[in-house]
Amino acid sequence: MQRVGSERRARCAYDAVMTAKKDLHMAARLLAAGEARAAADRLRALLGAGGLAPGLEADARYLLGRALATLGDRDGMSREWGLVLRLDAAAEPLRPLMSVEEFRSVAEAALDELPRELLDELRNVAVMVDERPSAMMVADGIDPRILGLYHGVPLNRRSVSFGAPYSDTIHLFRANLERACASRDELERRIRVTVLHETAHFFGYSEGQLRSMGLA
Ligand SMILES: [Zn+2]
Repeated sequence: MQRVGSERRARCAYDAVMTAKKDLHMAARLLAAGEARAAADRLRALLGAGGLAPGLEADARYLLGRALATLGDRDGMSREWGLVLRLDAAAEPLRPLMSVEEFRSVAEAALDELPRELLDELRNVAVMVDERPSAMMVADGIDPRILGLYHGVPLNRRSVSFGAPYSDTIHLFRANLERACASRDELERRIRVTVLHETAHFFGYSEGQLRSMGLA
């Protein structure tokens, strides 16, 4: 009765995945409701039981990292998020929504929308396309699934007495943008919003201002 046996195994595996997804969903709701401790307990129990597929394990550790950050456990957060970075890298999407070249040209087109005066200011800002943040960035507390990052001193915070040269970089995290989007159209929109969002940080806009401009 090989066939029945393998069907039952398949059903058990399916049930285990559905149970794990339900646990993740519940943990996310607890976290959103401010119940970080209860969320962390549930996620630790899920991870402790073992046998999770890498994608689900990454999702569980990502949420656990957020719960630990809320609880003030920065070391715990860094540990979990370092593992998320590795698990996500191991679980590359089978078919990317666009090639790296297309990705770059969508990002360049978004920059070209900016008025010329702003583009002149941006001349010394490097726009980098990386897969994900580096292990060092994540160890510093950067979200391993962040879509983009502006690194530097915003224009409005610059001082003439500050002698060191400024080196500004806008990072676009390709693999994270890919995993956050379900279609090519959505990915195009997200790249554009991320480019404009990080560029606006360079010009000194805050997270709250960007949200109200629809660029979050
Ligand atoms: Zn931002």
